[in-house]
Amino acid sequence: MKLDNKTFINASTILIGIFTVLLVPFLLLYKFSNLQLYNYFLLFIISVGIIAIALIMFSFFLVLATSFMNEPKSLNVSGIIQFSFWIFRVMLLPFLYVIVKIFNLDKEQLDRFFIDYNNGVVKSTLKKVNNSRLILLLPHCLQNQSCGLKITNNINNCKRCGKCDIGSLAALSDKWGIKAIVVTGGTAARTELAKIRPSAVVSVACERDLASGINDVNSIPVIGVLNMRPNGPCFNTKVNIENIEQAIIQMLENSARQRELSAG
Ligand code: SF4
Repeated sequence: MKLDNKTFINASTILIGIFTVLLVPFLLLYKFSNLQLYNYFLLFIISVGIIAIALIMFSFFLVLATSFMNEPKSLNVSGIIQFSFWIFRVMLLPFLYVIVKIFNLDKEQLDRFFIDYNNGVVKSTLKKVNNSRLILLLPHCLQNQSCGLKITNNINNCKRCGKCDIGSLAALSDKWGIKAIVVTGGTAARTELAKIRPSAVVSVACERDLASGINDVNSIPVIGVLNMRPNGPCFNTKVNIENIEQAIIQMLENSARQRELSAG
């Protein structure tokens, strides 16, 4: 059996190295131990535990408090909101996903909470962008399966026949002068974003893809809009066009909004 094991070997070596380094203080403690040293060490372990629990609780209450704020900007606390979101994403969320998996809880609901919370943070803290710097990122499953047109190359190949939401989304991209791209999956989405490097994104997808996508491109503000799946996952999906337009308007700077509105 010949496997490509380079990353496995590298990651395992790092892991073994970390545990070995962590073992050194214990070995030293064992060799030069006395009761007072033991007490100090125990105190250190207890302090680390207390700090970890305090940070998790701090993050939990901060997230709860900020997620209930309707207009955070008016309270001039956007820095706190960004900070609480960062703590949530880095410190709490990875553990919550583990707990959800172990106890078989509703992962989609946690994804939805993360997406909604992210959207609130982006809306309340985002520096508005010009329409040339905003991207509308759409999943291929929005296209009607019977349509043979190649819209992943260019959404303007769509003839806007009305059989699916792609036509309305293409019209929306024209109206606001923003680029819309249709992608076949998460990898294609990441490649496109790395190529285009937009300042902000309005993205449509299911819970799983949106949550992982928002996490992956954490340097770019993303407003996520969930698709609707009346025909099951990944097949002739739909999206609320009004919600998309609202998200676009919320991200555009005033001059871009005014220009498009007066042109319309
Ligand atoms: S709206 Fe566009 S993408 Fe959808 S079925 Fe019609 S031509 Fe095809």
